[in-house]
Amino acid sequence: MLTVTSEIETERLGRALAEIVEPGTVIGLIGPLGAGKTRLSRAIAEALEVDPAVISSPTFVLIHEYDGTLPVYHFDAYRLPSADAFDALDAGDYWNIGGVCLVEWADRVFDRLPSDSWTARLELVEDDSRRITIELPNRPDLVARLSERLNPV
Ligand code: ADP
Ligand code: MG
Repeated sequence: MLTVTSEIETERLGRALAEIVEPGTVIGLIGPLGAGKTRLSRAIAEALEVDPAVISSPTFVLIHEYDGTLPVYHFDAYRLPSADAFDALDAGDYWNIGGVCLVEWADRVFDRLPSDSWTARLELVEDDSRRITIELPNRPDLVARLSERLNPV
């Protein structure tokens, strides 16, 4: 869990996450409107060398695909009427094709995500402060690498 007090710090977290992702990593982003899910997704994608000009909030288009050092698939479940609609879009076909999947509003489709998905929970604190909790289930190796990047000695 970390508290970031500026977008710069959120960006730094995005870069650190981008350094430890693997082909097939799925990151579910959870938090209210304005918490910074798109901001963090953008930071991860930019760190994977996606052209910033092509990154947008996918709210009106469920899935955006970007070219980076790995392919990035950016999902937004906000306007989905149901988790079944996610299945109807064959969202599950994206999990294992070697890219990095970023899923905003993952809580709405949580049981559709792979069981080893990572989670980023974002809470609004005030102004530019956000509390962000990253869960990397069963990957103590990656937790260690992430904290090294965030707290260099
Ligand atoms: P969401 O996708 O969760 O609805 P967005 O990423 O679209 O949220 O919006 C977050 C908003 O909060 C942006 O306008 C961004 O500029 C602002 N913001 C301020 N401080 C931060 C921070 N520390 N991290 C992320 N976004 C921040
Ligand atoms: Mg968003």
